Amino acid sequence: MKRVFNFAAGPATLAQSVLEQVRDELLDWRGTGMSVMEMSHRDKPFMSIAAEAEKDLRELLGVPASYKVLFLQGGATTQFAAVPMNLLRGKAGADYIVNGAWGKKAAKEAAKYCKVNVAARCPDEKYNHIPDARGWKLDPNAAYLHYTPNETIEGVEFQFVPESGSVPLVADFSSSFLSRPIDVSKFGLIYAGAQKNAGPSGITFVIVRDDLIGQVHPALPSVFDYKQVAEAESMLNTPPTFSWYIAGLVFKWIKGVGGLPGMAQINRRKAGLLYDYLDSGQSFYKNPVAKDARSWMNVVFTLPNEALDADFLKGAKAAQLDGLKGHRSVGGMRASLYNAMPEAGVKALVEYMKEFARARG
Ligand code: PMP
Repeated sequence: MKRVFNFAAGPATLAQSVLEQVRDELLDWRGTGMSVMEMSHRDKPFMSIAAEAEKDLRELLGVPASYKVLFLQGGATTQFAAVPMNLLRGKAGADYIVNGAWGKKAAKEAAKYCKVNVAARCPDEKYNHIPDARGWKLDPNAAYLHYTPNETIEGVEFQFVPESGSVPLVADFSSSFLSRPIDVSKFGLIYAGAQKNAGPSGITFVIVRDDLIGQVHPALPSVFDYKQVAEAESMLNTPPTFSWYIAGLVFKWIKGVGGLPGMAQINRRKAGLLYDYLDSGQSFYKNPVAKDARSWMNVVFTLPNEALDADFLKGAKAAQLDGLKGHRSVGGMRASLYNAMPEAGVKALVEYMKEFARARG
């Protein structure tokens, strides 16, 4: 059996110990005589898996009791629509900060349901920094302020939580969920797909403050209505049971490495290894992102010319370093250093980059 270092942006690498546990429990989950995939979501074994996962997620993030935690299908993309459909509460519009491709998509989708005010954007769609907060044009009557803490494609991450006053703050945490501690009480709603930091694809988390839900259009489909889903404990219909189970194992794994403070230390160190090399005076690789907006999760870099890209990727693959190709919309390279990427993987990558630069520089 071989295991590579998988730097893909998502679906992404999972901790080996999690995969081993899934393997060990696959055919017979704790004496039930069946796999989790085969269980009824209404029976005790799965109900206990589901409850334990929610408890652990609440503990990891310190979710206040006044928030619902929902386990949904549909990915973050579904939330681009579900957020305005649930949170408008009779208001005409919402504010969006657009500093990357995902924030732009979220704003475009929301514009089907309300007036979108792009409160801040990067000029000419050059998504390599966070627009200066002093210039944001926030609407005090907005239903909410939406932003993307980590832009996965461009490798741009907020190193602060935006100030939204009394307007509820909404965040698409898809690519930095559980990567460091956050103060949930500063947010009205947080959402994230699991397939980067918290499990396999197929499950999406929504954490929402109680007072924001339940004021929706009567024609809103029930599966998109946070209040109805919360009342059914995320089992309004069949949930993605196997993904929920694996996410639960990932939560336990994160607790085992010191919870979010522990995870943050590791992630800071891993990103530091790669950025330190990029900053080390070498001139072969370049990272276009403003230093105060560099992502810990997705590190993008380019080679001196695109003609070298294919050889770089080929050599990387031979060195067991997979998934480094940048997003097709921006080109270059992207190393995703999510929670489950071991430090040894980042070290191996830096060594490979040095070697390639020496040979081809
Ligand atoms: N938001 C962000 C920040 C993402 O990185 C992604 C996926 N790469 C999405 C939204 C879309 O997620 P999904 O594919 O789960 O709908």
